[in-house]
Amino acid sequence: MEQHRTLSADDLVPAGLVEPARLEEIQRVADEFAVALTADMAALINPSHAADPIAAQFVPGGAELEIAREERTDPIGDEQWSPVPGIVHRYPDRVLLKPTLLCPVYCRFCFRREVVGKRPAMLDRSALERAYDYIRQRSEIWEVIVTGGDPFVLTPRRLADIVHTLDQIPHVAVIRFHTRVPVVDPHRVKPTLVEALAAEKAVYVVVHANHPRELTPQARVALTRLSRAGIPLLSQTVLLRGVNDDAAVLEALFRGLVAMRVKPYYLHHPDLARGTAHFRTGIAAGQRLVRSLRGRVSGLCQPTYVLDIPGGYGKVPIAPCAVSRGEKALGWNVEDGTGVQHPYPADPED
Ligand code: SF4
Repeated sequence: MEQHRTLSADDLVPAGLVEPARLEEIQRVADEFAVALTADMAALINPSHAADPIAAQFVPGGAELEIAREERTDPIGDEQWSPVPGIVHRYPDRVLLKPTLLCPVYCRFCFRREVVGKRPAMLDRSALERAYDYIRQRSEIWEVIVTGGDPFVLTPRRLADIVHTLDQIPHVAVIRFHTRVPVVDPHRVKPTLVEALAAEKAVYVVVHANHPRELTPQARVALTRLSRAGIPLLSQTVLLRGVNDDAAVLEALFRGLVAMRVKPYYLHHPDLARGTAHFRTGIAAGQRLVRSLRGRVSGLCQPTYVLDIPGGYGKVPIAPCAVSRGEKALGWNVEDGTGVQHPYPADPED
């Protein structure tokens, strides 16, 4: 299979990733939600494994047409915080800038699945200028998170233009890119793309990865190019039933990322996007996984387990807390990595 190629819904049967009998089902899903996966991800799929964790993330299935009552078209409330096209301003000191809604792959659990891959796919020049003006006029904006879609599908020239413009805004101190490209389409991370990220201001890259099999030698080359350019790398992972809701899988993923100089940043509880109920674990199951990781891996390998509160109320940590109040004024109970409780003295003001 040729590198750089992207497979659409029509390619899945000829590529042997889907049985011909499922063609109609795939087409019905593709009418509703964007479908694409890169040749790199297709090559990782074992089609004879019914529950292949890579296929589960990218190959559409009829379960996506079952919409649960609690699911929403805008699960994290982007729309209500969008003062101008391409900007989401949910927290005072930072904004999202979304120059494109295209991605190299379309994740079947995507929280923005109602908009990604759909038209208009790009912010045009005048909309981009309005978005820049919005940032320029608000001195409280300290950080700009360039997301989408996936900004690394843009040409290096366009990326450089974004970086240069943001770099010139005095109050912007941090430019953060959210991308899946270094993992799912690593050949795009060419020296020209890395050069496009050069800035006076701090540039961070946050990579989306969900399963250790995604950490291929090609992904390592791409990530190494970025880290050698002095760009701090972080990761975000979505907790997904049947993909990574297993302590050993998460451990291998987070160790693999750290070994590639990527600090695990967020473990997201999945959002209430339409047609994604089959991917969701319960919060209690997520907390059990996070608790078991605490005893298994170093702090370097432990992301913050977070939930975006449905409706746009922001992101909050939901990991189990290791401390609890003991008997009144007798202090605290602290749970170690194996679940054993230990006493800790009362607070001075108790
Ligand atoms: S890469 Fe991110 S934005 Fe794009 S489809 Fe996947 S989850 Fe959605």
